[in-house]
Amino acid sequence: MIISLHKYICLFLFDHVGRTMNSNIDEKKIAANKAVDNQASLFTAKSSDNERSLYGNKIDPQTPVFGSKIGGIAARAKLREHAILSTTKIGGSIAAIYWAIAYGSGWVEWSAFLVGYFLSMVGCIVGYHRYFSHRAFETSKPMGIFIAILTQSAAQGSALHWAANHRRHHAMTDKVGDAHSPHFDGYGKPLKGFMKFHHSHVGWLFDRTTTDLSIYGKGLVDDEIVMFAHRTRWFWYFVSAIVFPTLWALAFAGPEAIIGTILIAGLLRIFAVLTVLQSVNSICHLFGSQRFHGHGTAKNNFLINILTMGDGWHNNHHQHPRSATSGVVWWEFDLCAGIIRLWEKMGLVWNVKWAPRYIKDEKGEWVQEKSKKVAKQTA
Ligand SMILES: [Zn+2]
Ligand SMILES: [Zn+2]
Repeated sequence: MIISLHKYICLFLFDHVGRTMNSNIDEKKIAANKAVDNQASLFTAKSSDNERSLYGNKIDPQTPVFGSKIGGIAARAKLREHAILSTTKIGGSIAAIYWAIAYGSGWVEWSAFLVGYFLSMVGCIVGYHRYFSHRAFETSKPMGIFIAILTQSAAQGSALHWAANHRRHHAMTDKVGDAHSPHFDGYGKPLKGFMKFHHSHVGWLFDRTTTDLSIYGKGLVDDEIVMFAHRTRWFWYFVSAIVFPTLWALAFAGPEAIIGTILIAGLLRIFAVLTVLQSVNSICHLFGSQRFHGHGTAKNNFLINILTMGDGWHNNHHQHPRSATSGVVWWEFDLCAGIIRLWEKMGLVWNVKWAPRYIKDEKGEWVQEKSKKVAKQTA
């Protein structure tokens, strides 16, 4: 955490140095990229910003490949956005711990924490991940807006950028160009030791690389629900961190419980959800088991699966990325898949993509359940 803050401060202070180092600029690509950036940028663009598109550059081990960009408006917006998010979440969490020790806390604060954790985690797994990134199901506009609000209540940045980054992760898993590889940093430099965890967990949020939306933003930048989530994300962060805990405190205690509930059930809870979800990028690519091969370091991790309410079967997910469930064996718990299944039964979502079920065959190999039945019939 301290390393990340330090890294960000350094990057922020020396950002202008990096910008002046950019060269070999393709003017046409700059214009094209700026058009996309302007659509997605939180902050006003400056005419002096340089862009370095990677299309025309020679690819070498130090250069990110197709689909990522270095510097420019998007990188500055990313750094600023994550600085604001990190500062408020970490600062609020430290204050929450101090408050709990100094003034105590009780069921009002922690029940709000659990309810908020559940809602925001559903927003992360069902929203950011399975709906916006992978389109595991289709839904109506009102339901899409509801999912977008749940998603942005987790305050992990815009659903647009989240989904684009995540699509790049699947396209370039573990390779140079992966949005949060445990093997290479954003510039393609190999990582060792603790930095493998650090970069894939949080470091990638504070480098000057971004995902090229002209490639990974297809179907996102022109989706009105995605753009609704993107444009209103700060408002839902405010509702999630401040309004919801305030109303909870007033409903179940009184004005004296407002500050403690905001700190514990607002900011500490959002930081906890963030930390757990980032563990899918880091821990699920470092520790766990692999059922399917050919997906790099993606692993199934039981603990992360419990904490994410179903997204820890990450090796399964890389095998069937568009599935609404990451559990492919009967005992692989996936609460978020259960929620999607319930919504499907209620007619709220449709065209849901479900991964096949797997069982072990006589040789101990994992095979699709359906395939085995078919095999038996044809035997
Ligand atoms: Zn992965
Ligand atoms: Zn995914």
